[in-house]
Order: sequence, then structure tokens, then C-alpha cells
Amino acid sequence: MSDSERLSGQVVKAQSGFFWVETERGLIRTQIPGRLKQERKGTDIVAVGDYVELDTPDGEHGMIAHVAPRVRVLSRARPAANARQVRHDREQVLVANVDQVVFVLAVKNPQPSLRKLDRFLVVAEQHGIPAIICVNKIDLVPPGSAVAMFDLYARLGYAVIYTSAQRGEGVAALRALLAGKLTVFAGSSGVGKSSLLNAVQPDLGLRVRAVSAATGKGMHTTRFAELIPLDGGGYVADTPGIRGLAIYDVEPAEIDGYFREIAPLVADCRFNDCTHRQETGCAVRRAVEEGSISPARYDSYLRLREEHQLLDDEAFG
Ligand code: GDP
Ligand code: ZN
Repeated sequence: MSDSERLSGQVVKAQSGFFWVETERGLIRTQIPGRLKQERKGTDIVAVGDYVELDTPDGEHGMIAHVAPRVRVLSRARPAANARQVRHDREQVLVANVDQVVFVLAVKNPQPSLRKLDRFLVVAEQHGIPAIICVNKIDLVPPGSAVAMFDLYARLGYAVIYTSAQRGEGVAALRALLAGKLTVFAGSSGVGKSSLLNAVQPDLGLRVRAVSAATGKGMHTTRFAELIPLDGGGYVADTPGIRGLAIYDVEPAEIDGYFREIAPLVADCRFNDCTHRQETGCAVRRAVEEGSISPARYDSYLRLREEHQLLDDEAFG
């Protein structure tokens, strides 16, 4: 033990029970000692993004000695064997210490799904992670029409950037947003995530895509995630779990709290268990009628709530 050295760093890759930590001495492959396994039972002991201390005898391999408290975590309740049921006792951490999430969609080809966007924003709100909406392929529509479609989200306080990976518009702005931060990218396939990342930094999209390809297979048995470093500092994270990230671990009655324009009105509804559907004296419905809440967002709320009520009834009813 005496010739072992204590180093600190951030976990940048996890695979098959090994964790690679970026330290001042370079990348060190570590494992978790049994002692830590005893201490932290309710959550993953170590996840990509964690800041850790480790002991290394040779500067190449090591044992994790301590995991710093996590700031923001992208996680989900661990799905049970029956895919629709959720075990609430254990949290699966996808990425720890996330600074922000970028949700990419295309104005066209494929047609944007505002429902998916709203669902994603609920997840971000639930985890307290700042969300950036990246509207790509603006070269495919007349100037101004993309803004008309998404300005609603800017008015809700979300950062919205408009890009064309093909023409390079908005790429510098995206690069600036990513610098020095740990960012998780999400969005349906075909919206241009790889193209955008390649535009931000040569081969970045290719590296992220390689991680996705590697994780597509056998992801049920092998936990795998990796942070891809940015030239200007910071990381882009990719993990298979992010694509399947559902909000099935949100209580249906909590969903109104994750819609920024709905949340502050809930207290004004006549009934404190108001679902904002049919109830009289509903402040949310009034706001929709008066035009201060967008009908599309209200519709998203109703559908998400309905979806999750069904899941909940199935799982616990
Ligand atoms: P990913 O699946 O989200 O990684 O999407 P890709 O980066 O693979 O892009 C999907 C398709 O959209 C490819 O054919 C790209 O060339 C195209 N594409 C990506 N960005 C843009 C863009 O800004 N404008 C246009 N017109 N096409 C784009
Ligand atoms: Zn109400």
C-alpha cells in the first residue's frame, strides 16, 4: 500500500465493471472495491461523469477510493424484468454531473415531433438539468419559419438555437454552448446529430456514433457509456439509455409541475388534486382559453399524463 498513489479525476468510460478515469497522469483503468459496494446500495456506485479519488500502484490500474457527491444526474428508475414495471428501489445513473442536455430536432425531414420534445423537456425538468433545443436543417425551410415554430420554447425560457449542419449556420453558437461543459445529446435518428457534432469538431459525430454502434448490441448485459472529449474542454456524452429515456418514473400527478407554464398555475385551481382536464375552476384550462398557454403544449400535457396514468395502472394497479 505504501507505494500506492492517490489521484483524483473524472470517470470518462464505463464498461463491464471497469471505469476509466481521466487523471493528471492520464487515463487509469479502475475497479470498485467491495467496501464501496456495501456503502452505496440505492444507486449506481460509480457512473460516467463521477468525480472520484483512486489509488494506483502503477499509474495504469487502480481502485476507486471515494466518489464525490453528484450535482446533476441523468437517471432512471431501473426497469424490472417485466419491461413496463419499474423498481423504484434502485436508480440507474446514465451520466453523473451533467451540465446540460441538447435535444436536436429537424424542422423538416424528419418532421419535428413536438410531443417528443415536450416529453424530453419533462425529463430535463424532472432532473433539474438545463435543456437546449437545437433546431437543425433550417436550410430546408424559408427564413423565419423555423423561429415561428419554436419561439414558443424560447418564451418559456429554454435556450433555442437554429442550425444547419450542412451550411454551417449556428455551428459556432453550438460550439460555444458546449465548451467546457458535460453535455448529453439526444434526438431521433436522422435529425442530424452526427452531422452537427462533426461540424463542431472533426470526427466528433463519428466517435459518438461509434459508441452508439458498440452499445446497440448486448446493452442489456453490458453497461457501457463514454464521454467524448471536446478540443475546447468539456465532453459530449453518449449512452444507450438516453435514447430509451422515458418518463415512466414520474408520477402522473407530478407531470404538471414539469411544464414551466403550467406549474405556477396549479395552486390557483379550485381542487388541489386537479388534473386540468374537466374540472371546474381549473386555472390551467382558463389560461389555455385565454391564450397564455399554447394549445399544443396543453395537448402534450394531457397526452403525457394519460400515457403515464395507463402505465401506472398497469404496473401498480
Ligand atoms: P443523426 O441520425 O441524428 O446522427 O443524423 P445524421 O447526422 O446522420 O443526418 C441524417 C441526414 O440528414 C443525413 O443525410 C445528413 O446529410 C442530413 N442532414 C444533417 N444535417 C442537415 C442539415 O442541416 N440540412 C440538411 N438539409 N440536411 C442535413
Ligand atoms: Zn387545474
